[in-house]
Amino acid sequence: MLISIVAPCYNEEDVLERFHEEMSKVAEELLPLGHDLEFVYVDDGSRDRTLTVLEGLAEFDARVRYLSFSRNFGKEAALLAGLRYASGDNVVVMDADLQHPPELIRRMVELRAQGYDQVIARRTRTGDRMTRALTARLYYRLVNRLVDVELVDGVGDFRLLSRRVVDAVLGLTEYNRFSKGLFAWVGFPGTTFEYANAVRTHGRSSWSLRSLLNYGLDGLLSFNNRPLRAALHLGMGLLLCAGLYTAWIVGAALVNGVETPGYVTIITVVTALAGVQMVMLGVIGEYTGRIYYEVKGRPHFLVKATNMERAKDLVP
Ligand code: UDP
Ligand code: MG
Repeated sequence: MLISIVAPCYNEEDVLERFHEEMSKVAEELLPLGHDLEFVYVDDGSRDRTLTVLEGLAEFDARVRYLSFSRNFGKEAALLAGLRYASGDNVVVMDADLQHPPELIRRMVELRAQGYDQVIARRTRTGDRMTRALTARLYYRLVNRLVDVELVDGVGDFRLLSRRVVDAVLGLTEYNRFSKGLFAWVGFPGTTFEYANAVRTHGRSSWSLRSLLNYGLDGLLSFNNRPLRAALHLGMGLLLCAGLYTAWIVGAALVNGVETPGYVTIITVVTALAGVQMVMLGVIGEYTGRIYYEVKGRPHFLVKATNMERAKDLVP
């Protein structure tokens, strides 16, 4: 049985060699159990020497396959490329920064042998900053109310997938990819186990507050149109309030005559409504934007270098 390790790498020159060393140890442990390993490293347009490091690794280790993107296409694109070019019977998806402990792979393989198609590692939030843990909790509570698939806090991309899950995920060709949700969407029997997240030792996390926020919005918007529906409900509610209020004002004017004061009320109502309309427009715009990207049908990534026979025709 061949297990492919798919790892997206963006500016990981400091850890990649260590990562590969650790993984080689895991490979040695798995060999007697009848599992071969293959490594599919996807360099996501790194600005450092990541590609050079990968070329070096491939030179000394025949199990190393790499793809290098022409620019930074994002982790989701890198994951997709890795899955597409992984040839294993099972695929393990993990980060290259050693935050996903390699020694857990053995546990995953054991659970896979019990028949689970997806073996999911769920990180605990110990060691996280309080604010991060708290926002994550709130976010998942909100998201799960809105999306159709169940997203779990701490569950990320670190997981083992069977071939049929990989093929199912590859069948979802949308441009805006939210892997966590796609994995949950395809289903198949799965199991989850917990681990403590390792602190990043080298390099920096490439998530800024802004990219986290955008990622969160992607999760909310990629699965259904409930936010559009919510906007509609809000609009109808406001319309009703406005109607009642108008009736009240007109009634009062008929009974008491017209009073000039009321500037504050008017301004308040106008600005509040303008705000609400902006939000709704934004929601609609988000969906339209997604449609725009899907319709263009551009490739998810472009490749500038690879050592894989199967992917040779991708390199211009
Ligand atoms: N990554 C990538 N492209 C990007 C950003 C990140 O391929 O544009 C990779 C990165 O090399 C790492 C993984 O995705 O292997 C997770 O990234 P990071 O460690 O920055 O995220 P965090 O662990 O903080 O969630
Ligand atoms: Mg990381």
